[in-house]
Amino acid sequence: MAELHNMTVAELAAGLQKKDFSAFDVADHFLKRVEHDQQRGSNSLNAFLDINREVTLAQAKASDEKIAAGTAGPLEGVPIAHKDIFVTRDFATTAGSKMLKDYRSPFDATVVTRLRDAGMVSLGKLNCDEFAMGSANENSAYGAVTNPWDTSCIPGGSSGGSAAAVAARLTPAATGTDTGGSIRQPAAFCGITGIKPTYGRASRYGMVAFASSLDQAGPMARNAEDCALLLSAMCGPDLDRDSTSLNVAQTEDEKKYGFSHLLRIDHGDKPFAKAGKDGKALKIGMPTQWMHLGQTSPRHHSSGAQPQSEPDVQINSRIDQSLERFVDLGAEIVPVHLPLTKLSIPVYYIVCAAEASSNLSRFDGVKFGHRAKEFSDLADMYQRTRSEGFGDEVKRRIMIGSYVLSHGYYDAYYLQAQKIRRMIAHDFQQAFAQCDLIAGPVAPTTAWKLGDKADDPVANYLADIFTLPASLAGLPCMSIPVGLGDMGMPVGMQLIGNYLQEAQLLNVAHRFQQVTNFHDATPEGV
Ligand code: GLN
Repeated sequence: MAELHNMTVAELAAGLQKKDFSAFDVADHFLKRVEHDQQRGSNSLNAFLDINREVTLAQAKASDEKIAAGTAGPLEGVPIAHKDIFVTRDFATTAGSKMLKDYRSPFDATVVTRLRDAGMVSLGKLNCDEFAMGSANENSAYGAVTNPWDTSCIPGGSSGGSAAAVAARLTPAATGTDTGGSIRQPAAFCGITGIKPTYGRASRYGMVAFASSLDQAGPMARNAEDCALLLSAMCGPDLDRDSTSLNVAQTEDEKKYGFSHLLRIDHGDKPFAKAGKDGKALKIGMPTQWMHLGQTSPRHHSSGAQPQSEPDVQINSRIDQSLERFVDLGAEIVPVHLPLTKLSIPVYYIVCAAEASSNLSRFDGVKFGHRAKEFSDLADMYQRTRSEGFGDEVKRRIMIGSYVLSHGYYDAYYLQAQKIRRMIAHDFQQAFAQCDLIAGPVAPTTAWKLGDKADDPVANYLADIFTLPASLAGLPCMSIPVGLGDMGMPVGMQLIGNYLQEAQLLNVAHRFQQVTNFHDATPEGV
């Protein structure tokens, strides 16, 4: 039997149901790993912000009782850790901000409740960029998270704690949130699998709001099969609590198997030969523009130099090699056009800042969270509270957001951005007329060194180029590992599906993972 921490969610769930081991033993095993990492001082990954042995072990015991009584949920006793954006009653919730230091929510987020209802045991809360704003996890008020593949590198962001914890086998799975790439990019940088479902699939109730029209929860785990199991448990209508929650009728397959009806694609040599529309070959669209959109090295943009015209060759070559595998398995590659991709950066950073400036107005020192100790009057209290509580990146976005929403600038920036957002979504629909799903890079590079872009916000923004389009369109999208780059750092491939096509994305990724082993690669020493 594999060691507990090397087991997948599916393996742990099966072992628990068969009573090969107890939920208590599993929880204790993972807690020990987390505690051991935390005791490593400056060498700790700094992935966990709050753990509570008593709470976790009590949940595990309750799971063992349910298994014994034959009333177990589908994921009974399997541990999970939550990004610190989800509010939790049993653990502190900080959203990576000083503003919410020691804050305790009186209720659990819907996603947290649903996963517990499915039987999962909570290991604690995971570090993230402050209010999920960032691409490197360097914006957390509680310190950066490091990448288990190379601790001198960032793990990606904003769900950096989630990705690092799964990659280091401190938890078999984690929740993340993705507003503009925060599940996919850290999953890619840490060599794990993550999916952001269609906007509205998972309830946003109890997720500390960043940009409400973009924020979406999703699972991060070792492989597509685990993501499917987790997504089935997380998603579903929550209409009383989140008015943007989708009330979609489930297909018969979905009702029966959730998103994990992984056996729909037949298991012959060419599983993708008939997996596309109308029983034809699965068509994978490659956006022609994406191979020529690069990334500026830090500082190049500010010196006026042109961005490199292509993503890293190492990224392109790993993606190409994987696409060849898809072709071997019967898929067809077709070119598609997403001509507005470049504009997704300004559009996203206008829309998300506008929404953030509004959402974060609730942190005023009155209702909850930090309040300045000394102040002269109400206005001074607001000002000092917000100056002290928010970090630089959050302040920057509040200022940009207030600016683009202000009289005289609204039409020029916010409204324009909304119009282009609609056009980006439209381009995807044109593309999906040609293909079943779209593939491309997650990021233009592998994980960079800690500090390299820490004081250069625009360099961070530019690195989001490939994740932003699907976010703006609200499409389901995932990241799967496709090998290591030249420096031994993981490379991720992005798969984007049409609305509500999570099952197809997960099926395709699962079949790919059944014949490849990129997703099994583990950082040294783990
Ligand atoms: N990197 C993007 C940002 O900083 C995405 C963050 C996210 O998806 N939460 O806004």
